[in-house]
Amino acid sequence: MDQKSVLWLNPDYKAKPDFPVHDLNTQIIIDAQNRFKNFLPLLRVLFPEIEGDLQSPLSEIPQMKKELEKKYSVNIGDPLLLKRDDQLPVAGSIKARGGFHEVFAFAEHLALTHGLLNSNQENYMQLLSDKAKQLFRQYTIAVGSTGNLGLSIGMIGTALGFQVAVHMSADAKEWKKNLLRQHGVKVVEHASDYTLAVEAARKESEADKQSYFVDDENSQLLFAGYAAAANELKTQLDEKGIEIHSGQPLFVYLPCGVGGGPGGITFGLKSVFGADVHCFFAEPTSSPAMLVGLATKLHNHVSVQVFGLDNKTEADGLAVGTPSAFVGTIMEELLSGIYTITDEELFRLLYSLSTSENIFLEPSALAGMKGPVMTSSASKGPGTNQAVHVVWATGGSLVPGEIRENFLQRGAGLVDR
Ligand SMILES: *Cc1c(COP(=O)(O)O)cnc(C)c1O
Repeated sequence: MDQKSVLWLNPDYKAKPDFPVHDLNTQIIIDAQNRFKNFLPLLRVLFPEIEGDLQSPLSEIPQMKKELEKKYSVNIGDPLLLKRDDQLPVAGSIKARGGFHEVFAFAEHLALTHGLLNSNQENYMQLLSDKAKQLFRQYTIAVGSTGNLGLSIGMIGTALGFQVAVHMSADAKEWKKNLLRQHGVKVVEHASDYTLAVEAARKESEADKQSYFVDDENSQLLFAGYAAAANELKTQLDEKGIEIHSGQPLFVYLPCGVGGGPGGITFGLKSVFGADVHCFFAEPTSSPAMLVGLATKLHNHVSVQVFGLDNKTEADGLAVGTPSAFVGTIMEELLSGIYTITDEELFRLLYSLSTSENIFLEPSALAGMKGPVMTSSASKGPGTNQAVHVVWATGGSLVPGEIRENFLQRGAGLVDR
């Protein structure tokens, strides 16, 4: 309530959770991986800039590690890794995972029911045919967003031939709205926050039977798309010769808005690494939605506003006041903890990552960067000695140059504080 940075360790955490978790089976991960594989050739035709798989790099950031150790007087084990979802093609954020997956699933469903694909049809290229375009054109995909989910659904939806309506909360940045309009997306602006923008999108969509609603608060398809990232990370760690075991556990730090992205990845990582992974969510001090939801176990029946917090943050991707109950329930025993971070620190970290490693991220994506500091200096909780730390960089590559400059200047003005 004082808007100070805190670390909350989950008292209900169970190192080795039982799957399925609340009826959610790991089969959803395999299905999502297969769907991505089936759609990849088509995706490459639509977006020639995509080379290889729909994956993001995993990079070591040794200079940033030094900066963190100096600034916060802590020791962070080796290596410190950055998962570069800001480099995901087309959407430029983690939302490429969940958003693309759900639009793919909807397109696939329509194509199957209209005889454009049969159930063991291999040739997904059919979905680029004129016949498919004519079919998809009759449907509107609707979504409520603080910005990036709208970008992801808008880009992929319009490319496949769907109509797309994005309901944007007041936090959404002007450049994100403009980019969508350029792609023929209908942008509906709301003066309210994320929760009400989602509500408006849901209502509008329910009134139109040709409309499909992507429900950021409850979607299992979004969740599964994010969860598929776990095996990608496992493969990348293997390639680097980094073994994860009880003597060298994996610590992963995930910026959290409504919870779907970080929740899906946590679900996936727990299924892959079991007791050897610890996942932590990171939220702004003014928007700790998942923290209040989990700590009170009230989930979506509580909000940050109840605690007198205003949900105002420059981290637009994290500006959510009420968490997803669907995700929160699944996280009850899987998540190791949550910490909060001030906007001032986000900008300082943004600047320091840029000067030390020449990597630019959007403010939301820096929330995970304080994770190794928070867990290393915690007096209780899992030990971080010998841990491999992965900071999940969730977005930033689409931010226009002028706005980057502005963010960097804000950070530069804060470095000595
Ligand atoms: C959406 C988003 C998140 C958080 O994902 P949720 O599913 O809302 O929890 C984190 N970072 C960025 C940049 C995002 O766009």
